[in-house]
Amino acid sequence: MTTTADLGLYGDIQRFGATDMSACFSCGTCTATCPLVTDDATFPRRMIRYAQVGMKDALLSSKEIWSCYHCGECSESCPTEADPGEFMAAARRYAIASYDVTGLARVMYLFPAVGTAIALALAAFFAVFMFAARGPQDAASLALFEFIPAELIHDLGLVVMAIVVLAGLAGMVRMTRRMARREGVSLGDAFGGRAEIARTARAAWVAIGRESLGQVSFREDCDAEPTEPLWRRRWLIHALVLWGFLGLLAATALDYGLEVIGVKATGTPVPIWYPVRLLGTVAGAALVYGSTVMILDRLRRANRSVRKSATADWTLLALVWVTGVTGFAIELALYLPSAPVWGYWVFLFHVAVAMELVLLAPFMKLAHAVYRPLGLFFVALARAPRPVHAPAEARTADA
Ligand code: SF4
Ligand code: SF4
Repeated sequence: MTTTADLGLYGDIQRFGATDMSACFSCGTCTATCPLVTDDATFPRRMIRYAQVGMKDALLSSKEIWSCYHCGECSESCPTEADPGEFMAAARRYAIASYDVTGLARVMYLFPAVGTAIALALAAFFAVFMFAARGPQDAASLALFEFIPAELIHDLGLVVMAIVVLAGLAGMVRMTRRMARREGVSLGDAFGGRAEIARTARAAWVAIGRESLGQVSFREDCDAEPTEPLWRRRWLIHALVLWGFLGLLAATALDYGLEVIGVKATGTPVPIWYPVRLLGTVAGAALVYGSTVMILDRLRRANRSVRKSATADWTLLALVWVTGVTGFAIELALYLPSAPVWGYWVFLFHVAVAMELVLLAPFMKLAHAVYRPLGLFFVALARAPRPVHAPAEARTADA
C-alpha cells in the first residue's frame, strides 16, 4: 500500500490554530508527560509527526486526537515551546472540518468574518421567518405558543433536526470508515457473533457512559492534582455544559411527547416541581453556569487550554449562553403576576438562537459531542481483547 504525502497538511493545521511546529524536534517529552497516554494510544508527538511529514490519512484516522482534553501539561513540559496541546486542539478542528461533507465547518473555522456573518444571518432568518407567521399577543397571560404557533416551531424544528442528523451521520460515517480501516475493525469483528456484540457494547458503554457522560479520564487523570475548588474544575465545567445541553434537548423532546400522548399542551404553565420543567430548569442552570465560567476563563486566559480562542469558539459560547439566559428570562416572564410584553420578544429571540445553535452543531466545536465518543469507542475497542473462537474441527468434535 502506498501513502501519498500531503505537503500542505502542516500549513493547513496551522491555519486551524496550531503554533509553528517546526520547533518540534520529536523528543517525545510531551508524550511522556501526557496523563492520558496508554500503550495503545500514544500522542501528541506521533500526531505532530504525521502533520510534519504530510500523513493526512494517518492523522484523520487517529483515534488519539479525541483522547486529549487539552489540559496543557504537554505544552508546559515541551522544551521548545512548540505547544503540542494547542496542536491537538487544532488537529481536532481540522478533523471536524475534514469529516464535514458540506465544507461549512471549514468556512466557520478559517474565515471568521464569513462565519460570524453566517451565524448572524441564520439567527435573523429564523427570527424574521417566525415574526412573519406570528399570532396575537394575549395581554392577560403569556400565550407564547399562540404568538409563535407551536406547529410552526415543531415543523421548523423537524427541518433543522433532519439537516443536523444528515450532516452528523455523514461526518460520523466518514470518520468511522477511516478509523475502522486503520484499526482493522470490520463489521464481522463488531457484530459477527455474541462475543463480538458484547465486546462492541462494552466499548460503546466505556466511550459514551464512562468517558463522555461520566468524564472519568478527564476527572481522574487530567485533573489528578486539582488546585481549583470543585466548582471551578475544568472537567466539571465541561460536563455541566454537556449535561445541560443534553438535558434541555431531553426536556424539549419530553414536553413534546407529553403533548402527543395528550397529557398537556406544549407551553402550558406548570408548577416548578413538574418533572419536565424541573429537568429543563436544572439543565438550563448547568448550561448557563458552565458557559459563563468558560467565557470568563477565555476572557481572562485563565489556563493553558484557553490562552488561544478562535472566533468559532466565541460564536459557539455566545450562542450557548444566550440560549440559556433567554430561556430563564422566559421562565421569569411566564411566572410574573402580569404578562410582560417583552416576554413575547424574548421568546422569539430565544427560539431563533436555539434553532441556530442546533443547526450549526455539526459544523462547530459542538460536533465534539459525537466525534469524541466515536474516537473513544475505537480506543476502548483497541483495549478490549478480541474473542477467541475454537477452530471449526474442534467445535464439530465437541458437538
Ligand atoms: S512537541 Fe515539544 S515535547 Fe513534544 S516532541 Fe516536539 S519538541 Fe518534544
Ligand atoms: S493537552 Fe493534556 S491531554 Fe492533551 S496531549 Fe497534552 S497533556 Fe495530553
